[in-house]
Amino acid sequence: MDRRDFFKTAAMGTAGAAMMSSPLAMFTSCAPKEKPCELRISFQEGTAPCKTLEEKLDYMEELGIVGLEPKGKNLAERVNEFQQALRGRNIRISAICAGFSGFILAEDPSVKADFDSSMRDIIAAAGELGSTGVIMVPAFNHQSPCMPHTLETRKYLCEQMHELGEYALKHNTTVILEPLNRKEAHYLRQVADAAAICRDSESAGVKCMGDFWHMKEETSDYAALLSAGTEYLQHVHIASRGTRKMPGEDGELDNYVDGFRALKQLGYDKYVSFECGCNGDKEILVPAAVQLMRTQWEQAL
Ligand code: MG
Repeated sequence: MDRRDFFKTAAMGTAGAAMMSSPLAMFTSCAPKEKPCELRISFQEGTAPCKTLEEKLDYMEELGIVGLEPKGKNLAERVNEFQQALRGRNIRISAICAGFSGFILAEDPSVKADFDSSMRDIIAAAGELGSTGVIMVPAFNHQSPCMPHTLETRKYLCEQMHELGEYALKHNTTVILEPLNRKEAHYLRQVADAAAICRDSESAGVKCMGDFWHMKEETSDYAALLSAGTEYLQHVHIASRGTRKMPGEDGELDNYVDGFRALKQLGYDKYVSFECGCNGDKEILVPAAVQLMRTQWEQAL
């Protein structure tokens, strides 16, 4: 290598280093905000130990819970019920949990058509409720016949997500891709992969989420959530990490500090929503889980 080639290579190295450093710029912009972001906790409808929707919302307000995540099934018929129930309260609809028929990667056109129509109905209702978005999974392992896991399928998924995302934007909401663990869905397992699909879908209406239960697929809660960044991270689910019960039921396994640290650095302003069962007395374990989350949020520095 002569001297000129050396400098050319060195210059390329510098350019390469500059390119490599661009993701670091994102980290800089995600530095802790002056105003610390709040932990905004949401419950699914089945989380509170109460019977009626009114009782559940009363219970949630006493615990300082600010989000409610309803199921998507028949949501259009329930818009008025939720609007009435939330009037005058400090609780908003967070995300909508799935509830559509069919699935987006179905090979059978009638199953795909079921997905398209039912998902759009839920998105429209979600928009009326001011929801952050409708959660969806591209395909569960048990759903078949399913399109093969190929580059063409990924391209098709991005195109379909683009259309859904644009539809969601028209209704002032989003669609949220949820990565699951490999036992449930081998197709989409990690938050960064979901975020990359959001990016390649080229619609601001396509978002993703992390679920601390499924995030056992990840090598780092912190890196996983940070990889989605504020641009794509739209929702978070939480459960105990050994048995998917109330946070705290699995003892030391239930550590969310590393993930919370990422959320704080991002200035994450959406919800962390319970999606879990309960092995004991909910009257004790639900408030204990909320307290555990708040304690760990404070520990996340
Ligand atoms: Mg989940």
